[in-house]
Amino acid sequence: MSSKLDSAIIWDASRGGSVTQNSSAKLILCYHKVGPQAEEGRFLNVAPADLDRQARFLTRLGYVGRRLDDETPFDRPRCVVFTFDDAYASTLHHAPEILERHGIPGVFFAVTGKTESDWDGDRARPLAEPALLKAAAARGHEIGNHSHTHRHLAKLSAAEQLEELKQAHAGLEQLGIRARSVCYPYGSFNHDTLIAADGLGYRRGVSLAKGWAHSTAPRLALPRIVIAYSDGLAGFVYRVFVRPKLRRAAR
Ligand SMILES: [Zn+2]
Repeated sequence: MSSKLDSAIIWDASRGGSVTQNSSAKLILCYHKVGPQAEEGRFLNVAPADLDRQARFLTRLGYVGRRLDDETPFDRPRCVVFTFDDAYASTLHHAPEILERHGIPGVFFAVTGKTESDWDGDRARPLAEPALLKAAAARGHEIGNHSHTHRHLAKLSAAEQLEELKQAHAGLEQLGIRARSVCYPYGSFNHDTLIAADGLGYRRGVSLAKGWAHSTAPRLALPRIVIAYSDGLAGFVYRVFVRPKLRRAAR
């Protein structure tokens, strides 16, 4: 997308015009990797400069960044939660500092029983070491539960699912981190998953259902908007503000 188009959208949007969304809907963004494309490629990766632009854009529109485990994360119309699945090492190296520039806390969902994303096949990347997770938590970011071994939870028995979430919870606790939010690998969950998450005292959970979280969304399976590629600000605006409206209109 051209930078001319980007600036046109910023100008338009900063006047509070055409890209505002139904004020009762909640905006939760879902990222994976954050790193230079030369190192991380395009697959599920957003370049640091793009994350910076996207965060700046939303704060200029008046959005306030929230943690998912805040008592009331959506206490005003324009709140946004930046979530990052898998807690890749590259993400923890780049995202906290970028978000802090804009006063936004990140929510990083960690897999405690793996050191690299072996579920990505030949695109496996290192996951954040405990020290990186602890440092981010100490700086005010939220670390959430993304299970122990990153399996499709809905394919497991209720007992196995509970074990996956419990082990991850305990693993984070060993780092001095108290997880209060959960993210299901591949967005895979069922009734047993929600029971397990609730039993662990989790306040909120996120799925990969696409869209803004409307008032009917279950608190333990909130939908998100996936930001997958470095497609510039125009692409970001389309994903966040335009496409969800088109999808809802088509229903
Ligand atoms: Zn994942």
